[in-house]
Amino acid sequence: MQDKLGLYIHIPFCGKKCPYCSFYSCRYSRKMSDEYCVNLTAMIKLYSQLYKSKTLDTIYFGGGTPSLLGTQRLVSLLDAIYKYFNCAVKETTIEINPGSGMKLDYSELAKAGLNRVSIGMQSVNADELAELGRKHTPDTIRELVCKIRNGGIDNISVDLMCCIPNQDIASLNKSIHFCKELDVNHISAYMLKIEEGTPFYQKRDLLNLPNEDEERNLYLFLCNELENLGYKQYEISNFSKPGFESKHNLKYWNCDDYLGLGPSAHSLVDGRRFYFKDGFSDFNNNITTFESEGGDEEEYSMLRLRLTQGLISEGYFERYHKPIPEEYFVRARELMSHNLTNVTDDSISLTTEGFLLSNSVIAKILWG
Ligand code: SF4
Repeated sequence: MQDKLGLYIHIPFCGKKCPYCSFYSCRYSRKMSDEYCVNLTAMIKLYSQLYKSKTLDTIYFGGGTPSLLGTQRLVSLLDAIYKYFNCAVKETTIEINPGSGMKLDYSELAKAGLNRVSIGMQSVNADELAELGRKHTPDTIRELVCKIRNGGIDNISVDLMCCIPNQDIASLNKSIHFCKELDVNHISAYMLKIEEGTPFYQKRDLLNLPNEDEERNLYLFLCNELENLGYKQYEISNFSKPGFESKHNLKYWNCDDYLGLGPSAHSLVDGRRFYFKDGFSDFNNNITTFESEGGDEEEYSMLRLRLTQGLISEGYFERYHKPIPEEYFVRARELMSHNLTNVTDDSISLTTEGFLLSNSVIAKILWG
């Protein structure tokens, strides 16, 4: 049983749906979001009672587009969280869409406890942004960062997307250097995945997507360039200045407890994984769906191998009171000659090349 808990709040509204996105969200309306905030507050109260032995140490508003809620509703939600949960919160993040983020009052939000902002920038190249259905420009982002800092929040993360249609090394480099120019503390750089059920999936053959070799080159360039600029990779898709790794997201890869509130939000608490289904009905009626047991040795190993630190004997022993299985070391050593793993006497981790093939490399280490 862990005594700390991370809280994820899903805000399932967007101004319009981006053509590549498969996250659950619906079109924003004032009425729906007012009702949603009332239900969310009731659930915050209810779950704070359920987990009253735990202390909240991270809060994350994700979506959807949390910034669409506006300052007052976000402040009320933060007030409710602080009122009902035991809190010793080190990090409170909100995802901001550059389109709606400009309207927020960051000093009010900072007073209510917000101390980290994650901006969904994706790219600074006009043709790539047009393909992604995004309207902002580099100037929008510069202004937004300025506004956030003037409000007293210095911990800023930016999302970059890799392998966008039409992207090449030069255009990726431009987006990377723009992040450096902004001097943000953290960069999440996700590879675009073409998900079934999205408009991108339907027209996938018409998109000018990079081939496998180009994908590899883009990812390796990204990792190398960010490292050169002082952003250390700490997870397959995440990079930060020293000390600015996302405390909340690290819970996912460390198999630490987190509670997800909202439609489609997932939780891992006290060894149980459960979630609210898409749509408002289950959430409004507090119906959770059991997913699986969670946090066992295999799952922990699988998730830790996404981190550049990898699987470490001391952490594994502390958690499970036994050593990392010797066969993991044997198999991981076999992959060293292909430059896919780093292995020492007490740790196993993936190289950048290994991260490119992470699913198969991790499966090979764990199951042979
Ligand atoms: S704003 Fe974010 S959550 Fe909403 S549709 Fe676009 S990518 Fe998906």
